[in-house]
Amino acid sequence: MPEHVVIVGSGPAGWTAAIYAARASLKPVVFEGAITEENRLQGTLPLGQLAMTTEVENYPGFPAGDLSEFFRTALPAEHHWMIDLHQKEGCSGPELMHLMRQQAVNFGTQIVTDDIVDVDFDSHPFKLKSLGGQEVEAHSVIIATGARANYLGLPSEEKYKNNGVSACAVCDGALPRFRDKPLVVVGGGDSAVEEADFLTKFASTVHLVHRRDELRASKIMSQRAIDNPKITIEWNSQVDEVLGNDTDGVTGVRLKSSVDDSTRELDASGAFMAIGHTPNTTFLEGKLEMTAKKYLKWTVPFRTNTSVEGVFAAGDVADDYYRQAITAAGTGCMSALDAERWLGAKGL
Ligand code: NAP
Repeated sequence: MPEHVVIVGSGPAGWTAAIYAARASLKPVVFEGAITEENRLQGTLPLGQLAMTTEVENYPGFPAGDLSEFFRTALPAEHHWMIDLHQKEGCSGPELMHLMRQQAVNFGTQIVTDDIVDVDFDSHPFKLKSLGGQEVEAHSVIIATGARANYLGLPSEEKYKNNGVSACAVCDGALPRFRDKPLVVVGGGDSAVEEADFLTKFASTVHLVHRRDELRASKIMSQRAIDNPKITIEWNSQVDEVLGNDTDGVTGVRLKSSVDDSTRELDASGAFMAIGHTPNTTFLEGKLEMTAKKYLKWTVPFRTNTSVEGVFAAGDVADDYYRQAITAAGTGCMSALDAERWLGAKGL
């Protein structure tokens, strides 16, 4: 029997879609992603990008206060380690994601810890194939696979991935190799500023390397970086080589000026990339319409429809503009309502 709705992805869009679909008695199946080394390196593990952040100060409903007792009662004991780890007030990204997942579970969502690697949208019911070899049929599909961090594309960067090069300060920042050492963060947006700020908890100093003379980050976040005595902003600079050796991994970076041909070197035991994102749509190439940047196209204004009837898209996979947890959750809700109405109209 085909499933009513299969949801691919497990960020705020996927879980919100699951909560709405489950409450509409559609018995959703969520493919939350596989736990593999490749996914870890790419930043595409289950629970998505929010699982790799720290405090979430802008998700409505968690203003402040010690919420640990609430988390302890809302989440099963296996997740309580996360609460003990989180010293500050309010809600952290991993906590928010586990709360959303648990809410979907509470309404009967079925979860498969695997990636979808192939889809057949040419015939109906649709067919989806997982990395682990599972095949599933579905009357409707919601794609909520999000986006992942970009890298500079330097061979030296590739060489030292997992040995000093990272795109996730929250995942890797506390590792012993980064403690009390100078670190580099590349980028000038909110992610770069947030990562630089976070890394000052561990590093002796953080060099924020930005290719222009003005940050792209919001004013409040930029000011936080400028005011932080442990952050030095390296203006008009690009990393043109990650320096290191086989024993120590990353030992520094070579910077090239964006305004002249000069180069200089910085000592660093880590280089954290925070230069934007790429949507997780490779498995959908040729199956759904995409933008030039490979984001899925919403084909009907104010709806989550894609170019294939019965397939919907939610969250960052179709949004390179807002990219917020709350907007992803919002479009996740919309996609479940769109799927429910489409299934109803088809009598499925
Ligand atoms: P972003 O805003 O697109 O910024 C990417 C940064 O990387 C830019 O400064 C860009 O430089 C730089 N960059 C891109 N390619 C580069 C390259 N090849 N070499 C060197 N530098 C490069 O991406 P983001 O910071 O990940 O933020 C994405 C969205 O999430 C934004 O809407 C942001 O507001 C949001 N966000 C919000 C929060 C928060 O509110 N707490 C936290 C994180 C992210 P240029 O400036 O020169 O283009």
